[in-house]
Amino acid sequence: MMSNLQDICILGSTGSIGVSTLSVIEANQSGYNVVALTANKNRQKLFEQCLKYKPRYAVMKDIEQAGQLEKQLQGHNIEVLAGDDGLEAVAALEEVDTVMCAIVGAAGLASTLSAARAGKKVLLANKEALVMSGALFMDEIKQNNATLIPIDSEHNAIFQCLPSSQAQSLIQGNCSLTELGIEKILLTGSGGPFRQTPLEQLSKMTPDQACDHPNWSMGRKISVDSATMMNKGLEFIEAHWLFSASVEQIEIIVHPQSVVHSMVHYRDGSVLALLGLPDMRTPIAHGLAYPNRIESNVQGVNFTEISALTFEPTDEARFPCIRIAREALEAGGAASTVLNAANEVAVDAFLTKRIKFTDIASLIDTVLNKMTSTSVESIAAVMEADAWARVEADHYLARTVN
Ligand code: NAD
Ligand code: MG
Repeated sequence: MMSNLQDICILGSTGSIGVSTLSVIEANQSGYNVVALTANKNRQKLFEQCLKYKPRYAVMKDIEQAGQLEKQLQGHNIEVLAGDDGLEAVAALEEVDTVMCAIVGAAGLASTLSAARAGKKVLLANKEALVMSGALFMDEIKQNNATLIPIDSEHNAIFQCLPSSQAQSLIQGNCSLTELGIEKILLTGSGGPFRQTPLEQLSKMTPDQACDHPNWSMGRKISVDSATMMNKGLEFIEAHWLFSASVEQIEIIVHPQSVVHSMVHYRDGSVLALLGLPDMRTPIAHGLAYPNRIESNVQGVNFTEISALTFEPTDEARFPCIRIAREALEAGGAASTVLNAANEVAVDAFLTKRIKFTDIASLIDTVLNKMTSTSVESIAAVMEADAWARVEADHYLARTVN
């Protein structure tokens, strides 16, 4: 029995995805063993998780907080590590089989890459890591024989709609969508809280309004991304790298009920869709158990209770971030890295009320327009482009914020 246990490291265990992952593990205690948990600054929450799940390691990004946690955990036989080194170390531990990558933003890149390089089963929630490092990230997965399973609900849905024997080889770059008879993949997005807000009111929307998502409960950064639909832009780029899909092979449509999580169009006219309630425990359970199935404590869809499933084209005048992201992908090189970094700065500035909702897209556009074409052939170059974009974004803020 013991040998069937999957040993898990959760990067970002105190966040929305991290907590959902622990709840799925709790529903399947005989199959999973929590080896490492990590957090940025939320010491109290990580401390409580340590008492409950008894990991071998706990990591805090914040070094001072890590020192405090170490004192709190004395006598519990839990090793406390700190900083980026600590995060990278637990992601690559010999005794770890599976790493849930659920840190938000560029901050999660190094530890996610560490899991890939160590050949782990990588459960990818941290889409920003893939968006910023694209081909380099996918190369690390391939070269180190890691297994990559998308947790983002749309990409997880597409993965599940692929021919089951070929899904993993597609992600490993060993076949193409065309070879599998696939014409296009359709990413659905709810349209967020401002889908019907009069355009002239968008500039007045507050952080709390932006984070009040109609269907999903998520961290604040991705909630703002959903309100601007930059989330769908990032997911467009994510789909490009995961499934080797060209820009023409990916389409975004708005589906306000968030029941159809995405679809795959086959050559013969068949369209496979993945349906489910909007609850991340479902894709998390799929990723943890793949290729098997486990309990997630999420009910299936009760079709007689759904009034309607509706679909609309995306409105790029309302959601310019979709266009900006697609153009960044088409531009290639460092553009997606710059897009991601500028977006992170813009979202933070919006959440801390330094800029208006509508300034988010303007900031990103301005930074991308200043970029001179660069290629990114190493992770060091990715980090350089990321840092450059953050400096440029700060210049924009210095000009804009009164
Ligand atoms: P969250 O803000 O709720 O949690 C983020 C986690 O990362 C926390 O544990 C936090 O301590 C940790 N963290 C933050 N900054 C860090 C840093 N600088 N160094 C180390 N750790 C840090 O975010 P979330 O909603 O759980 O999202 C996590 C990731 O999953 C994001 O990339 C998001 O796009 C993706 N995702 C989330 C959802 C969702 O429903 N929440 C759905 C799809 C994809
Ligand atoms: Mg998603």
